[in-house]
Amino acid sequence: GRSILLGKAFVRTYASAPSPHALVYLEHRGGQLDSGSLSALTAATQLGGPVTGLVVGSQEEVPKVVEKAKLLKGLTTLLHSSSPSYAQLLPEIISPLFRKLLTSSPYTHVVSAHSSSAKSLLPRVAAQLDVPALSDVTSVEHDGSTNTTTFTRPIYAGNAVATVRAPSSLSLKFFTVRATAFDAAPEDSSASVEMKAVDPVDTSSPTEHVSTSLTKSSRPELSTAPRVVSGGRALKNAETFEKTIYPLADLLGAAVGASRAAVDAGYCDNSLQVGQTGKVVAPELYMAIGISGAIQHLAGMKDSKLIVAVNKASAAYISAMVMPLKLGPLQDGDAPIFQVADVGLVADLYETVPQIIEKMSQ
Ligand code: FAD
Repeated sequence: GRSILLGKAFVRTYASAPSPHALVYLEHRGGQLDSGSLSALTAATQLGGPVTGLVVGSQEEVPKVVEKAKLLKGLTTLLHSSSPSYAQLLPEIISPLFRKLLTSSPYTHVVSAHSSSAKSLLPRVAAQLDVPALSDVTSVEHDGSTNTTTFTRPIYAGNAVATVRAPSSLSLKFFTVRATAFDAAPEDSSASVEMKAVDPVDTSSPTEHVSTSLTKSSRPELSTAPRVVSGGRALKNAETFEKTIYPLADLLGAAVGASRAAVDAGYCDNSLQVGQTGKVVAPELYMAIGISGAIQHLAGMKDSKLIVAVNKASAAYISAMVMPLKLGPLQDGDAPIFQVADVGLVADLYETVPQIIEKMSQ
């Protein structure tokens, strides 16, 4: 009799498995929602349950952002919380608000973009609640019958994909989303989102915001631009980088990127670095000019739709790509960028780039 009872209880637990309910952290800047958060919202809707958005900030910013967020397709409810102390969105200062919202809550998943600030916030809150957090997720699938969620995420600088399953026993699943892997949630003029103000949780923190210095640029934003022109070590110095890469980028209406070698050598600003320790981009067009294509660089751009490489690496190396075992290890000047390039130009960039510019300006 006992085993039958247990069996029944087991079946009942399955039948009443809670439907997934995601809480999405909607980040913003200058009154605009971040595009990465729109991708996080799309990922959240793929769980198949209701989705609650959360906007946090100062009293000046929050109303502006809420006006935009309430039009987003896929949101069921929109929570917003404002306080002067939320003006800088320091993880130390807003994490108590998350903890309060997530304690005895309906939420099963907490989702955000894989942004610098969310990378600091989500693992912090997850650790405080004693649950794990998963980062840089590229796909998500929830199985309602077993109440498990399966994620994929790149590992080893994008050379392998890990499939990770969160068991049903894990009541709260935190994950950050790789923006390039999910479309941005669109607006929907017929959206009817329930709005709720949430009291801020006042907190004293040993962390204090001192100042923010933003790199201002009239060029397209690297992470979201549909076209990117990147320069590498071969650009020699800041002056040639600017004279060579910027005119081509301007003609194409493209954002400018760089390899770490170019950034480390001071050819351009840090914020332009593409790769494992820089930005991850997946534009329609990615031009790699004088970049060898080290795996750490490929990790940040190999999902681009059309990759064009200009590199003077020897043509012998290209055949080595086809028969690498026969021809032995790579030599200096070799360019693994040709492994991922759709269009590869074995040429001196100082001849080729001016030619491309001239042709395009005709
Ligand atoms: P090089 O490898 O020196 O390549 C220069 C290329 O220019 C060569 O292929 C050469 O054939 C070509 N060339 C030279 N002259 C010309 C010419 N006149 N015309 C045409 N082609 C020419 N790197 C990143 O980019 N992003 C990262 O996020 C990143 N993270 C890293 C993290 C870690 C932990 C580590 C260890 C490394 C990381 N790196 C990263 C560095 C990476 O390993 C490479 O060192 C770097 O990407 C090389 O940059 P590069 O291709 O510009 O330079």
